[in-house]
Amino acid sequence: MKGEHPINGILKAIGHYVTFFLLVAFVITCCLSLFVSTLSDSLQITLTNENVALAAKLTFANVIFISLIFTVIDAIRRKLTVDRPVKHISEAAERMMQGNFDVRIPISSTLGTDGKFNEIIECINHMAEELSGVETLRTDFIANVSHEMKTPLAVMQNYGTLLQAPNMTDDKRIEYAKAVSDASRRLADMMTNILKLNRLENQQIYPKAETYDLGEQLCECLLQYENVWETRRIEIDTDIAENVTVKADAELLSLVWNNLFSNAFKFTEVGGTVSLSLSTTDEFAVVKVTDTGCGMSAEVGAHIFEKFYQGDTSHATQGNGLGLALVKRVVDIMQGEIAVESTLGAGTTFTVKIRRAENEHLEENR
Ligand code: ADP
Repeated sequence: MKGEHPINGILKAIGHYVTFFLLVAFVITCCLSLFVSTLSDSLQITLTNENVALAAKLTFANVIFISLIFTVIDAIRRKLTVDRPVKHISEAAERMMQGNFDVRIPISSTLGTDGKFNEIIECINHMAEELSGVETLRTDFIANVSHEMKTPLAVMQNYGTLLQAPNMTDDKRIEYAKAVSDASRRLADMMTNILKLNRLENQQIYPKAETYDLGEQLCECLLQYENVWETRRIEIDTDIAENVTVKADAELLSLVWNNLFSNAFKFTEVGGTVSLSLSTTDEFAVVKVTDTGCGMSAEVGAHIFEKFYQGDTSHATQGNGLGLALVKRVVDIMQGEIAVESTLGAGTTFTVKIRRAENEHLEENR
């Protein structure tokens, strides 16, 4: 398409058409002459050379004239129904190649094309919409990661500089070194979470399914927070049904429980209560993690599963807004369900439903 002058293209096309017309007109004239001479023989009519020459010239001119009219009509039809949509499509594709995903192609009239071009146009418009969504996600993600990295890096830089001061007391040195190691741990935690989320989102993960006792796993995960609940005098309330087995990837599911417990303890004041319950329905094992903490508004609740979203900024230093995004992704992979109920100032309950191991609930129903 590119590289050749448009006039050259038009001249070439006219050349092709003229050759084609002359050839067709010549063939039709020959055929008709043959036909007329055969007819004249059988009807015993005598034709003079002049009669034949005139008829041949008329036929030749007629064929050229009629073909020309049809060609012009067809060219106009093609211009409207083929060239125009093709031009729109190739212009849009070119703009998308340059990274502009806001392009949308107008739907053209379906005259003579059975709407096939409109099918292609709809697909391209849909593709552009999807690509612009992915692009927004990508830029938001990069902006969020850079923003989240800046704070701990600034902390490390500042305390690192302070540590270089001479004649520092041991207490100060320990305090500054602790600030540096806390910030670096936050950074490392964030990177680990980003990597986990990336793996869960971008790879075809086939969870290693093993049948195990969910109650035992929940207790093991909860016990890891013993130190926290003892120091902050948080009461623990458990109601765990026995022998509830699930067929799932234990490592992935422990990510869910750890994130829910760590949030429950993080957002609960000293002296509050964190409750854990495990019950069953026909199909599901139902886990509820409840706390009597600060709760959240409906507005915050609507966004908590988004990456990097932090509703409660007063606890921002203890997290990075990736925990619940990970939880949601794992629950989705397990084809389970997650719901949250929360009252601002009163507390929050997260309910997670995981499919039970099949043979267990079948036996129960017998
Ligand atoms: P992070 O805890 O690192 O901020 P999460 O993805 O785990 O990130 O949580 C996102 C947000 O959801 C939190 O910032 C907080 O506003 C809200 N949230 C989560 N769990 C609770 C809870 N148990 N009580 C109150 N708010 C919560």
